[in-house]
Amino acid sequence: MRFKADRAFRCLKLLAPILSNPQVARLAALLNSSGSPHERVAQEFSVRLAGLLYSSPPERIVWANILVPSELIWGLGFIPFYPEIAAATIARFGLAPEALRLADELGVPRDLCSFHRAAIGFAEAGFFPKAGAFVAVNYPCWTAAVFLSWEAFRHNLPFYLIDMPSDFTEDSAHYLAYSLEEVAQGLASTRGNRYYIRGIEKALRLSNEARSLALEATEMRKFIPSPLKGSKMIGHLGLIAYLFGSPYGVAYYRAMRDYIRRIIAESRPEQEKQGARLYWMHLKPFYSTTLFHLVEDEKKAVIVFEEHSSVWWEPLVEGEPFLSLARKMLSHPSLGPTEGRIARALADVQAFKADGVIHFNHWGCRQSQGAIALLRRRLRGEGVPLLELEGDCIDENGYQEGQIRVRMEAFLESLGGGL
Ligand code: SF4
Repeated sequence: MRFKADRAFRCLKLLAPILSNPQVARLAALLNSSGSPHERVAQEFSVRLAGLLYSSPPERIVWANILVPSELIWGLGFIPFYPEIAAATIARFGLAPEALRLADELGVPRDLCSFHRAAIGFAEAGFFPKAGAFVAVNYPCWTAAVFLSWEAFRHNLPFYLIDMPSDFTEDSAHYLAYSLEEVAQGLASTRGNRYYIRGIEKALRLSNEARSLALEATEMRKFIPSPLKGSKMIGHLGLIAYLFGSPYGVAYYRAMRDYIRRIIAESRPEQEKQGARLYWMHLKPFYSTTLFHLVEDEKKAVIVFEEHSSVWWEPLVEGEPFLSLARKMLSHPSLGPTEGRIARALADVQAFKADGVIHFNHWGCRQSQGAIALLRRRLRGEGVPLLELEGDCIDENGYQEGQIRVRMEAFLESLGGGL
């Protein structure tokens, strides 16, 4: 890996100042893309983001974990970097095993989530962009907070911990809002000034615009036959964490909405033959597998919606930016009793007319796996078939291709609807 990654890293560093130019990013995405319009926006954004991350001064870059609102980071004039998402990207290029080996050498316990173990390995190898500060929320798990605080400590850089209350009340929203404002003040002070409220309000405005477009796209995804291929959408989940609060979020969801509208009007769904309708929960293996080829191409089942594509929050309020960001975080379906997450899954199953649910049990994730027994019981009680797939999203060692194929085939047969 060192050789492959070293070469890619040197190339990226060299090209970064050029890639950070929006016109160049657009051109690079156009040259490299045969996808749908929103996929092209996603590619353009990824190229530009990589350019910015590797060419900007470290003081502009904030490492965070996935539930730290991107609106806050963009709004303060910083560039977010989410190591968990970078880990998924590395896994896609087959580099995760080596990153995990480096984490092993450092003594990182193997029972921790591989998203963070891989990120630790890559950070250790020096392949991540340098940061000016670190922000973590101790939710949905503590692993990220420990990793980011450790990185901050060893580089002697500021670290901010957002302490997430465990329930959503008016008091907890105010507590969290206060914490977010402290982070804003702290981050702004790392660059020697106070935070600029107009910047945060602009990010909230962009986020709301993207949210409305995303809701329109979601509504249209309920159409039968399903307009989009779900496997591609699951591939975009990491990117979505970056988009809200950036103009690219608006461009992405506008392109998606217009595209879905067009393919419905022209009766040209992305997946031509559609059998059983599936609702996908949690994540997926990010390394190369034949899983989605089996589901969509061989068995003609269609993934109609994904748990993490949902827009779960109310519009943000420009006049009270920290409080509304706090409300967004606190209304996340995974916060509080598992019943909230299950209720949303059941509502989605009904709204998208799904025949069954697939839950990918990422190894080591207490959040998703820990809730599986309750989820299983409730879905069974409601007559909704569930298939639990065991595996690891990042670590390809131990992926049981044959076993997963057998179980998936049996599940899809039990749902009927084969073509
Ligand atoms: S997958 Fe689970 S364990 Fe890993 S970072 Fe996410 S919530 Fe934490």
